[in-house]
Amino acid sequence: MTSPTDERPAGAREGDAASCPAAPETFSGNRGLDIEEPLLFTLGSSQKTGVDLPEPRGLAPRLDGVARRGPIGLKGLSEPETLRHYVRLSRRNYAIDSGIFPLGSCTMKHNPRLNERVARLPGFADVHPLQPQQTVQGVLALMDMLSHWLLTMTGLEAVALSPKAGAHGELCGMIAIKAAHEASGEAERRRVVLVPESAHGTNPATAALLGYRVRAVPADSDGTVRAEAVAEVLGEDVAALMLTNPNTCGLFERDVVEIARLVHEAGAYFYCDGANLNAILAKARPGDLGVDAMHINLHKTFSTPHGGGGPGSGPVVFSKALAPFAPLPRVVRDGETFHLVEHDGRADGGGDTRQRPFGRLTAFHGQMGMFVRAMAYMLSHGSDGLRQASEDAVLNANYLRASLRDVMSQPFGDRICMHEVLFDDAFLKGTGVTTLDFAKALIDEGFHPMTIYFPLVVHGALLIEPTESESRASLDQFIASLRALAEAAKAGDRDRFLAAPRLAPRRRLDETRAARKPVLRWMAPEPARAAE
Ligand SMILES: *Cc1c(COP(=O)(O)O)cnc(C)c1O
Repeated sequence: MTSPTDERPAGAREGDAASCPAAPETFSGNRGLDIEEPLLFTLGSSQKTGVDLPEPRGLAPRLDGVARRGPIGLKGLSEPETLRHYVRLSRRNYAIDSGIFPLGSCTMKHNPRLNERVARLPGFADVHPLQPQQTVQGVLALMDMLSHWLLTMTGLEAVALSPKAGAHGELCGMIAIKAAHEASGEAERRRVVLVPESAHGTNPATAALLGYRVRAVPADSDGTVRAEAVAEVLGEDVAALMLTNPNTCGLFERDVVEIARLVHEAGAYFYCDGANLNAILAKARPGDLGVDAMHINLHKTFSTPHGGGGPGSGPVVFSKALAPFAPLPRVVRDGETFHLVEHDGRADGGGDTRQRPFGRLTAFHGQMGMFVRAMAYMLSHGSDGLRQASEDAVLNANYLRASLRDVMSQPFGDRICMHEVLFDDAFLKGTGVTTLDFAKALIDEGFHPMTIYFPLVVHGALLIEPTESESRASLDQFIASLRALAEAAKAGDRDRFLAAPRLAPRRRLDETRAARKPVLRWMAPEPARAAE
């Protein structure tokens, strides 16, 4: 077997550990009980297997001559080796269950275990999407209840539960907008979508995917979009404005009502990126702000697991004007019975003629497990609890802001933020330390870094979203590390940053090389291949 050092991915720096007294090189390559783990291809052998089945006897081949003749060289492992491999890898995961995960814009909050418990109830977990509807009435009732609460909280008219993530929801909302313009005969003329420069990359990508041209809306020096700036770029060629509120700088768009009025006056629709709903839930209703379509990331606002932890879910809510174009399927209540409407009634002359669904977005009805978790979250919090969660999310972000404002710099002055606080790299000026170095050093301190270099409108952005589920003690620890690092950078301790992370299983990677020359295929080292 090769030595563990050889397993380091391309670009890992050698020798960093030697310069760091806390992490001496070991003979084994392991670091304490953090055990070095090679790839399965290196670890396994084609001579081994974890299962021991007798050769099937008396089975006539039915593959008509295309059956494999020789072994294909797949590597095998014994059962204990397999188990250890995956357990060791799992210990490399950093998760919201292991510590603060302050990724701005991602809302990495605690996933209450009650939600998990409810989602595992066999009546929810063990049903099949093709089961007859009368056998899954409880599931449909839950979808109906979830729809009801999403509409109540957003003040909108209709909801599509099927989109499977925020970006998928954007696509859903924008297809509905396109369908509405097609229905009114204006699709040919309206070819432009307005997107502020601070938007998440998925916004312009969604517009471009649907064939729209993206026109940027500049932000004011205070980080928000002025109604006048929107008026300037609005025209008869505009199909929609995509605006995030609170925006990606963590600021509430103060002109939002006036912006919505201008957009509607110009015959366009207002798509709101609802990824930051956690700041305003149960405080403000997007419907009252003039929103026509908005996705809700259940995996952000309503605590369903995400990242490596689970599938997302991005229901879209629609205004009265767009409701008829919402996609299928749709849950309809008829007395005590629920129906999943799966077909466009217009095709065979029946159905609800007010509905003009644009089609469907997914094979089935969406991410059922996430619906159950989100519903459990809503019911266990109640409306007062949801409001408190929003307030606490904002309070926590401002606690961080106020605690760090003397050592870290804010791009738009020292003003109250929403659920996330944005810093820029002005405080690192002249230190030789970049935003990336600073974030990497945070890994050595035992923290997952914040979102960096986003939003793009801010130089060297560091976007921190602590969420409401961090305690004061946890925030204080995080603040103490950020302060100490900021002070170390200013004091000229540059080496600490350039070599970071020194204590992680992998050191600093050559990110440029990884992006330009990714190694996507494992190749056996020469001698090992000869031995096979
Ligand atoms: C997370 C996010 C999205 C995309 O949502 P996904 O569920 O990751 O597809 C879009 N916009 C903003 C502002 C976001 O934070």
